[in-house]
Amino acid sequence: MKILVSNDDGIFAQGLRALTYELKQIGQVVVVAPDREQAATGTAVSLHQPIRVHQVAPVVPGVESYAVRGTPGDCVIVALGKLITDRVDLVICGINHGANLGDDVPISGTVGAALQAYLHGLPAIAISVPGSNNPPLDTAAKLAVLLAKGIGLGMLPANVFLNVNLPDLPPAKIGGISITHLANRNYTDVVEERDDGGYPYYWVVRQRRNQATDKQTDTWAVEHGNISITLLHANLDKSPPPLPDNLCSDLFQQLRAS
Ligand code: MN
Repeated sequence: MKILVSNDDGIFAQGLRALTYELKQIGQVVVVAPDREQAATGTAVSLHQPIRVHQVAPVVPGVESYAVRGTPGDCVIVALGKLITDRVDLVICGINHGANLGDDVPISGTVGAALQAYLHGLPAIAISVPGSNNPPLDTAAKLAVLLAKGIGLGMLPANVFLNVNLPDLPPAKIGGISITHLANRNYTDVVEERDDGGYPYYWVVRQRRNQATDKQTDTWAVEHGNISITLLHANLDKSPPPLPDNLCSDLFQQLRAS
């Protein structure tokens, strides 16, 4: 199984390394990631400026790794179009440091990278943990392996990609896995006026308005101790097809056993 790994936190992120380390156990991994933080770049691609790429020291020993001066979407496009010449079976983006829930999803660089893979016709996963001091990176990486194996066995419907979020809990405290819809995460963007030595500028401060109330949503799932998996697609006017009933319970049992 040939797996492309990317992210939006940059090539030096701990989550990228944890993901690559686990995926290397089940496949041939290539890392192509931005050379710096690219959070909240969403679906952006660079069509009007050069995209420079440097092969760098392996993120994990033995794993071909490239740093890209560009967006997460650029990374996937350049990887699939030039850097990797043989067939890629799966693209996984993350493990993002910070949840990507509800209204975060359209601006998420992590999801934007997965979207590019999906638009290239490949199975794709965006996976995120909360931005806390001790995020559950190991659990997320193990879940990514299980999902990758499942996708290898044809688990994923052809016309969707996955947005996965973990709660901020140790493995034993996680309640289960839920298939969810995107919440309205209800942000208020406060635009502050600041000053940089006489040069005024604006700074957007994003504030949460309230807790999730809809139990079908990704935000509710994570706030109540569950792993959230949302099926995303780019046919914006259509609903995705259903998944098998027992998928979540099977997957959670495997995660517990891993
Ligand atoms: Mn990020």
